Amino acid sequence: MRVRTADATHELVPLADRMRYMRIFRLLAALAVVGACVALPELRREPLAVALGVTGGYLGVSLAGEAIWRMVSRRALPLFGALVVLDAVYLAWSAYLLVDADAPLRFVVLFHLVAVALLASFRTGLKLALWHSLLLLAVFHAQEAGVLESAGGGEAVALGGLEYRTLLAQAVAYWLVAIATASFGAANERELRRRRYDLEALGGLAERLERAAHAGGVAATLADAVADDFGFERVAFFGAPERKLELLAGRGLVPFALDGGLEPRADGALAHAAESAQPLLVAGFEPADEPALAAAMPEPGNLVFVPLHADGRTVGVMVCEHALRRGSRLERRVVSMLERYGSQAGLALTNAWLVDRLKRSATTDGLTGVANRRAFDETFARELARAARADDPLSLVLVDLDRFKLLNDTHGHLAGDDVLRAVASCLEDEVRIGDSVARYGGEEFAVVLPGLDAADALAAAERLRTRVAALELGAAVTVSAGVSSFPLHANEPLGLIRAADAALYASKRDGRDRVTVAG
Ligand code: GH3
Ligand code: MG
Ligand code: MG
Repeated sequence: MRVRTADATHELVPLADRMRYMRIFRLLAALAVVGACVALPELRREPLAVALGVTGGYLGVSLAGEAIWRMVSRRALPLFGALVVLDAVYLAWSAYLLVDADAPLRFVVLFHLVAVALLASFRTGLKLALWHSLLLLAVFHAQEAGVLESAGGGEAVALGGLEYRTLLAQAVAYWLVAIATASFGAANERELRRRRYDLEALGGLAERLERAAHAGGVAATLADAVADDFGFERVAFFGAPERKLELLAGRGLVPFALDGGLEPRADGALAHAAESAQPLLVAGFEPADEPALAAAMPEPGNLVFVPLHADGRTVGVMVCEHALRRGSRLERRVVSMLERYGSQAGLALTNAWLVDRLKRSATTDGLTGVANRRAFDETFARELARAARADDPLSLVLVDLDRFKLLNDTHGHLAGDDVLRAVASCLEDEVRIGDSVARYGGEEFAVVLPGLDAADALAAAERLRTRVAALELGAAVTVSAGVSSFPLHANEPLGLIRAADAALYASKRDGRDRVTVAG
């Protein structure tokens, strides 16, 4: 299960980081105010000591506020707001502190707006612009009413005068700066959020792919992920375990499409896409270009063919249909994400195939392709246990090639190998579904026949013997066989093998090319 904290999902920049940036801003603002007071003493209304005292008090209160915020489990958003309001009051006072209306300190207010609009939110930025405008007007009206000393050394400011109009223009500038910053910030933020979403989606995919046990699971995981994460209506996932593509999984496809039999054409659209290095966007797909795809996904609209690569070869092609109007373009971002999904899937798919192959080679005989001795031991024990539970009979037939050493000596070992392969596939073709054939030793095979008692097994073994004898192999090949049955001869694997082996030797003793049931 994926656990995400609300904090990590909803905030690109944690509140703690915003607080830190604001502290840096406050220090710089205080420095600017003190610097301006020192550099422009002619414009200063109050003595330097007052400026230093107020600035010190402002820094002390805001640092204390930050410390309190840290203590109250860092969730107190109102405190962040309160400090911003305090900043504005300090900045309004410092702007008043220097006589000239165009004093450079007014620019610090603009920086304040930019910082807050970027660090907090669009709404906070606008509220702050309003608050700064109100403070601007409050200072003006306080000067007009004579509460505060007005600029120009005693000449009273008046409504409608030049200074008033300059103030209004300044307020408008505040609003424009706040709106512009917040909008540009929002555009960046949207992009960041998207990237974050994409990264999380990729991480989630990797996690789900890890849990997929086999190639079909990998394909199904990817088809679902693509459909869910990017809103594709239909997805078809073709993989190439050998050289040819086959449909491994899909989403929204016609039922039965996955039952096999849909073979992509060697020169069709899928084969073409497999040779491409990048995803192909196809607006008007012609069903005749790839009948197999059209059969699984009738009347396809806009398609994206995503080739899947791993180990320097194409291991599959994913076909995604998007619901956009014909001709409208898919976002670049989605296409590049599909590419990334594809490369993850390519690797996962080759791994799954490798594991499949390893598992298969651990249980099959390399020469003949039938089960090996180890698989036989497992199957035999399992089938016997099942027969005992169900109170059903079960028989074992041991088959040994007659005078095989002579055949090897006469025709060579390679010819002997061919004979072993031919006999193995003959045995497999002749037994019923549910029976199992294994290479038991050099030229010996074991056949497990669940449900058959000794008499039925004798008939089955006779059939196998005559079929092998009828094979046209360039040399006469016959087999001898021994049959044992559960529960008649023994009720555990070793006993049954011993009994079948003894019966096999009886067949050999009696002249070969025959079947004997255990005594
Ligand atoms: P019998 O009728 O008594 O079974 O005589 P046989 O010659 O078949 O029996 P024997 O046990 O003397 O010889 C078995 C031969 O099978 C010996 C070995 O060379 C051959 N053999 C075992 N495994 C292989 C194999 O993988 N390939 C080939 N070509 N020959 C094999
Ligand atoms: Mg033999
Ligand atoms: Mg033998």
